[in-house]
Amino acid sequence: GDDPRLRHIKTTIGVVPNFPKPGIMFQDITTLLLDPKAFKDTIDLFVERYKSKNISVVAGIEARGFIFGPPIALAIGAKFVPLRKPRKLPGQVISEEYELEYGRDCLEMHVGAVKPGEHALVVDDLVATGGTLCAAMNLLERAGAEVVECACVIELPDLKGRERLKGKPLYILVEAH
Ligand code: AMP
Repeated sequence: GDDPRLRHIKTTIGVVPNFPKPGIMFQDITTLLLDPKAFKDTIDLFVERYKSKNISVVAGIEARGFIFGPPIALAIGAKFVPLRKPRKLPGQVISEEYELEYGRDCLEMHVGAVKPGEHALVVDDLVATGGTLCAAMNLLERAGAEVVECACVIELPDLKGRERLKGKPLYILVEAH
């Protein structure tokens, strides 16, 4: 993008070949977090986009959606709801299974955390195939919420994850190559 903040953010994201397994180009946001300006600019860019969009709930996906989601929620005056891996949440949950490259995974959300009619933003660090965001959106919709948008720092555009998002818009800051 044209925004110099976006160019700087991109330079702070590490790329680790063959992690956690051969063939994966792992996009490491821990180095973005070490740069206070890049971290603040990342949050500010999301807040600028969502502050006037009437969003009542920010849903963050475990684990890196727990880093970016809460500061966005605080700044826009929304609540934060964690979407967790199985058997982590202590209360009653609804679950969504989804396909991975090898096998299946699952996300859970507390019953009652999101009310019917709420306007939700889904936050994660990265979209690859879109399967994780799709499961997250299904949880929110089953609770009766309207998903306004999904927001990620990074997109792997070759995997066409955007096409799996049930027609909902996806906002990203940088593309990985
Ligand atoms: P997907 O469901 O295929 O869109 O995968 C997205 C989820 O897997 C996110 O929670 C990411 O944190 C993680 N992920 C997938 N691919 C990568 C990658 N190349 N680098 C870092 N994280 C990844």
